[in-house]
Amino acid sequence: MNVNKNTSQTPKSPTKILVVEDELIAAENIARNLKKLGYEVIGIVDSGEEAIEAATNNHPNLVLMDIMLQGDLDGIEAAGHIRSELKIPVIYMTAYADDDTLGRAKLTEPYGYLVKPFKPQTLRTTIEIALQKHQGEQSVELSYIKEIEEVKNKLDQLTNQEELTSLTNRIILSDKFAKVVSKIPSFKEQNSQQEKDFTPTISVICLGINRFKRINDLGYEWGDLLIKSIVKRINKFISKNSIIARLNTDELVIILEPINTKSETTVLIQNILEEFTQPYVLNKQKFLISANAGITLYPVDGEQLGKLLLKARNAMEYSRIQGDNRFNFYKKEAGKHQNNNTLKLENNLYSALSNKQFKIYYQPIINLKTGQIVGAEALIRWQTSDGSIILPGHFLPLAEETGLIEAIGEFVLKSACEDVKALQDIGLGKIRVGVNISARQLNQLDLRKKLVKVLLNSGLAPNYVELDINESVLITNQTTAMRSLHGLKTLGIQIAIDDFGTGYSSLSYLEKFPIDSIKINQNFIRKININSTNQVITSAIISMAHKLNMRVIAEGVETEEELAFLVKHNCDELQGYVFNRPLPLVEFASLAESLAGCPQMINDWINQNKS
Ligand code: C2E
Ligand code: MG
Repeated sequence: MNVNKNTSQTPKSPTKILVVEDELIAAENIARNLKKLGYEVIGIVDSGEEAIEAATNNHPNLVLMDIMLQGDLDGIEAAGHIRSELKIPVIYMTAYADDDTLGRAKLTEPYGYLVKPFKPQTLRTTIEIALQKHQGEQSVELSYIKEIEEVKNKLDQLTNQEELTSLTNRIILSDKFAKVVSKIPSFKEQNSQQEKDFTPTISVICLGINRFKRINDLGYEWGDLLIKSIVKRINKFISKNSIIARLNTDELVIILEPINTKSETTVLIQNILEEFTQPYVLNKQKFLISANAGITLYPVDGEQLGKLLLKARNAMEYSRIQGDNRFNFYKKEAGKHQNNNTLKLENNLYSALSNKQFKIYYQPIINLKTGQIVGAEALIRWQTSDGSIILPGHFLPLAEETGLIEAIGEFVLKSACEDVKALQDIGLGKIRVGVNISARQLNQLDLRKKLVKVLLNSGLAPNYVELDINESVLITNQTTAMRSLHGLKTLGIQIAIDDFGTGYSSLSYLEKFPIDSIKINQNFIRKININSTNQVITSAIISMAHKLNMRVIAEGVETEEELAFLVKHNCDELQGYVFNRPLPLVEFASLAESLAGCPQMINDWINQNKS
C-alpha cells in the first residue's frame, strides 16, 4: 500500500519515520504498526540526544516523539532542535501531560499529538495530516523566499539612488564598505610593480560633533540642517567614491577609498577639522561648534566594519579628552591611553555592582491598536557616587569584554522580573518586561537554568518575559544562538530580535529562529514620514513579520509624524520618546496608573487613521 498522499504517477519511496520512545515494547509495537501501514522506520531511539543525532544523519520525513524521555533532554527539547534546525515535522506521543508540559510542547509547534495507547488507524490519520500540513507550509515558504529576494533587490536598487549618497544609513553603509574593500586587490595589482612594500589601506573615520545637542534641542530640523552643512563642507575634501554617513545623531562616519599612505588621511582630516573653526550659519544664525575624530585603518586595525567603527569611536573619545578639533589614529595614542582609562573604568564597574549603583529604568511599550501600555523595556543605568547617570553605551562594551556582563545581566533579569511582578500585583495590568540579553549571556550554558530560577523566585509567569537579542548576535553565532534560543523558548518566554535591520542579510535568517517579535532599529524609524527608503524598509519588515506571525515594535519613535506613519502601516507596538523616555520604576508605575493604559495622544492618532 502506498501511504504517500503524493498524487504523482511515479511510485514514491515510502515516508521515512524516526521513532523516539524509551519503552522498548511500546517502541517496537509502534514500529511494527508503522511498517504494516507502509511507512519505513529509519530507527528507534530512546533519548533526546540520540533523536537529534539520528534525525540529523538520516533526515526522516517525520519524527514520532515521546514527551517523557530518560536523559538530559526531554522529548520537547529534542523536538525543539529538530523542528528549528532540521525543519522536520514532529508528532508527540504521550500517555498523559499536565498543562505546563502541554504548554511547553505547544511552543515547538508540533504537527500533532497522539495520546497513548492509540490505534493504528489514528496513527495513520495523524501522520497523513501532519505530512500534508508540512507540504503546504513548504510551498508557502517558497513563495516567502521569493518575496524576500524581491525586497532585497529593492534595497539594492535604493542603495544606488543618488538621493542617498549624501547620508547613507547603516545597512547601506556595510554594503558600501564591502564594495570599497573589494577594490583592494585590483588596486594592489596595479601598484605592486612599482612599490614592493606598498600596502593599500582604507581609512575609517569617526567624526563626533561636539555640542550638537544644543542645536538639536532647538528642533530636529536644526540638527539636520547643521549635519547637511557639515557634510557639504566635508564633501569638498573627499573623493566622489568615498562614503559619508550619519551613524548617530551627532556622529558621522567617513570611509575613504583605498589609499597609499596614512599621511594622505592625516592631511584630509586636518582640512576637515579646520573647517570647524569657522562658524556655521543656519537660518541666518551663527553657530560655532567643534568636532573630534578617531581613525582606524583597514585591515590592520580590523577587517570588519563593526570593529573598525568601534575602535575609531574609541580613538575619537580620546581625542575629545585632548580638546576640540583634535584627532587620533587608533593604536598609537588612543590605544595606550585607553588602557589606563579602561582599567579605572573596569575597577569602578566591579564595585558598582556590589555598591548597588546599577538601576533599572523602564521605558513603556505601547500597543498601537489599543493605545495601552503592554510592556516595558528594562534599561540599565549606572548611578555613580556623585549622582550622575551613565548610559549603558559607555560601560556595557567593557562589561561584555571583561565578562562582568554575566553578573550584570543576571542582576537586570532578576530585578526586572521582580519589579514587573510587583506592578502586576498592585493591579497595573498584565504588562510584560523586555530584558536585553548580551552575546556573552546567550552563550552561557546555564542561562536557561538561571532564567528558570529567576522566574520561580519572582513568581512572574514566563510569558511576561521577553528577551531582546541583538540581531547581530544571532547572525554571527547562528548555531549557538539557535540552540540557546530553542532551549529558552521551551520555558514559555518570548523572544524579540533587537535592532532589527542593521544586519541587512538578516531577512532570510528570520524564520530560522523561534522569534515572537521584531524591534525595528531606530535608524529606520527616523523621519519615516518623509524618508522613502525608511518607508520601504519598514513596511517590508512589517509585512514580512506579520506573515511569519511576529509582532513588530518600532523603536525610537520621536515624533507624531513618525507615529502616524507606523499606525497607518499596521505596526503593532511602539517604544520611543514621543510617548516616554525610560523611567525609574516608581515613575513608570505612576505613569501607568495615571494613564490607566489609555494615552490620549496615541488613541487620537489611532482614531484619526481609522477614519
Ligand atoms: P536597545 O535595546 O536598542 O534600547 C533602546 C535604546 O533606545 C535605549 O537606549 C533607549 O533609551 C533609547 N531610546 C528609546 N526611545 C528613543 C527615542 O525615541 N529616541 C532615541 N534617540 N532613543 C530612544 P539606552 O538605554 O541608552 O540603551 C542602549 C542600549 O544598551 C540598548 O539598546 C541595549 O542594547 C543596551 N542595554 C541597555 N540595558 C541593558 C541591559 O540590561 N543588558 C544588556 N545586555 N544590554 C543593555
Ligand atoms: Mg532592547
